[in-house]
Amino acid sequence: MANHKIAILRGDGIGPEITNAAIGVLDAVASRFDHTFEYSFPLIGGEAIDREGAPLPQSTIDECLKSDAVLLGAVGGPKWDNLAGHLRPEKGLLGIRSAMGLYANVRPAVLYDELKGASPLKNDILKNGVDITVVRELTGGIYFGERGYKDGPLGRVAYDTEAYSIKEVERVAHIAFQIAQGRKKKVTSVDKANVLESSRLWRAAVERVAKDYKDVELVNMYVDNCAMQLVKNPAQFDVILTSNMFGDILSDEAAMLTGSIGLLPSSSLGDGKRGLYEPIHGSAPDIAGTDTANPIATILAAAMMLSTSFGLYDETACIENAVRKVLAKGLRTPDIAGFGGRKVGCEKMGEEIAHAVLNLK
Ligand code: NAD
Repeated sequence: MANHKIAILRGDGIGPEITNAAIGVLDAVASRFDHTFEYSFPLIGGEAIDREGAPLPQSTIDECLKSDAVLLGAVGGPKWDNLAGHLRPEKGLLGIRSAMGLYANVRPAVLYDELKGASPLKNDILKNGVDITVVRELTGGIYFGERGYKDGPLGRVAYDTEAYSIKEVERVAHIAFQIAQGRKKKVTSVDKANVLESSRLWRAAVERVAKDYKDVELVNMYVDNCAMQLVKNPAQFDVILTSNMFGDILSDEAAMLTGSIGLLPSSSLGDGKRGLYEPIHGSAPDIAGTDTANPIATILAAAMMLSTSFGLYDETACIENAVRKVLAKGLRTPDIAGFGGRKVGCEKMGEEIAHAVLNLK
């Protein structure tokens, strides 16, 4: 029996609906496996701006740091689009990642058999499935490097700098190798080492870390080739490890192979077990309050939390099987209803998955 404290950052738009569905599923897990999950609901994003005047109140940071894990819905919406940069809801998200010291973003992309029609790839390419986890370095590289303007012979020049330290690469590489140990034991490290000095350091550091994980195969791949291989033969990939900018691009490409952003979870991790778990999609203001959002990405984010932060592997598998069972039964939220099945709302989809968690053999 485990007892865990979870901070639920419901956020804006569909955030409250999808996190409610995930809480229903967590309650079902607690009941089936005899655990206690204690929830708190700190404010973030637009709701925090409206009620406290800032997208990330100090009380929210304190509550998250006191918790064993954080589950986030999504932040943002047109109501707050015209505020000054430091007051935008998205600042809350960047702020909480930084306050929690999270430097690795983990994004699984899994194609469900029942939803093969949703993938833009041909059936022939999908015959061996898609089950890829992208591990992206989150706090270094070109998005955080030195930037500015200077004058050159051809006029004004703008520059951004890609810089990585050995330590930054090693710590994210350890996370990727550890994830691979629990999967198919293969890491593809993606870089541009034929051109970039920072990529040569990246490759050397990853190769050193690989020596600590003799059971995991390491493949080095250039980023241009990886972009091509993802659509040519996605089944060759298990864990993709890459830098902040390459990961930003490749994780969206991998996500699209599965066809629906409403299905994909992600986690952000640092040292220690406390992580932040969320769907990859945004707050979908266009459908907020209509009970049509797909809660599966958030439910699968909660499932990732159980194994990664709490070590509850059977419970994670139970949620994943429950999701498969409900999809196999033909239940579909509107975003995935184009591929057959019976249309249900967000709340009903959450209830059905919770019911399956309680009743799976
Ligand atoms: P979005 O992901 O919110 O929506 C894109 C499209 O996908 C919309 O048509 C939406 O209805 C649909 N969609 C998204 N999630 C869905 C779900 N679970 N079920 C069914 N359909 C779903 O992206 P956007 O429209 O570019 O951004 C909307 C707001 O979300 C913006 O304010 C943006 O800044 C914010 N945002 C937040 C996060 C985050 O909190 N992590 C991430 C991305 C965007």
